[in-house]
Amino acid sequence: IRQCGFTCAIVAALMITLNSNGADIPAEREGMLEAIRESVRDSASYTGRSELSDRVMTAMASVPREEFVLPAYRHQAYDNTPLPIEAGQTISQPLIVALMTDLLDPQPGDVMLEVGTGSGYQAAVLSGLVDHLYSIEIVEELAASAAEVLVKLGYNNITARAGDGYADWPEHVPFDGIIVTAAADKLPPPLLKQLKPGGKLVIPVGAKHGYQELLLVEVDESGEISKRSVLPVRFVPLTGDR
Ligand code: SAM
Repeated sequence: IRQCGFTCAIVAALMITLNSNGADIPAEREGMLEAIRESVRDSASYTGRSELSDRVMTAMASVPREEFVLPAYRHQAYDNTPLPIEAGQTISQPLIVALMTDLLDPQPGDVMLEVGTGSGYQAAVLSGLVDHLYSIEIVEELAASAAEVLVKLGYNNITARAGDGYADWPEHVPFDGIIVTAAADKLPPPLLKQLKPGGKLVIPVGAKHGYQELLLVEVDESGEISKRSVLPVRFVPLTGDR
């Protein structure tokens, strides 16, 4: 064991690289970042961007995805794929998490809303990029487990709660940005009303389990709404009584 301890320490040292902030990045996570960079380049003709911002990539590098997946999938935590979580839901593909975060263009003073906390991974990525994140999850069991892991890992600028994110969270509106991580059949009017002038909404819209597109919706200073289709996607549906 002692011998392995010494050898393993050397191997571990060799398997760690440094990110632009000088922080250690485990080799598996660096592999995920490289897969994201490659997929972003491959999808540039759809998305209009051949790379994502350094701030977003640094945030992706900082979050231990293995803490947000089920124990049975820990060995796949850094694959660039969605994975099952509790309650038949999914943790999104790292590429999509990074792209949606980049589209939101989060700034240090921003207050944002996430609809669909799921595992809490997307919330953790946004945590380092904004002043405060409110995150809402309709499945109580998931809301509770995500809140627990986020607290355990020290993400202390996230307020997470159980509820239907289609409606508003009146105490905290308006938001600089809203990210919806489940597919709506159309743009939800209550969410559009919660955006500040200049705010952005990133949301998958389309048929349940069918064709969906990721939309970037922007409200300008005069309240004018514009929307752009960014990429065909496949998300679990936005649920709730309507
Ligand atoms: N952002 C998540 C993550 O990082 O793991 C991925 C979320 S998963 C793709 C979508 C989540 O949206 C599911 O956990 C689902 O229960 C939740 N959801 C669906 N409809 C919702 C609603 N009306 N309000 C809040 N959450 C909802």
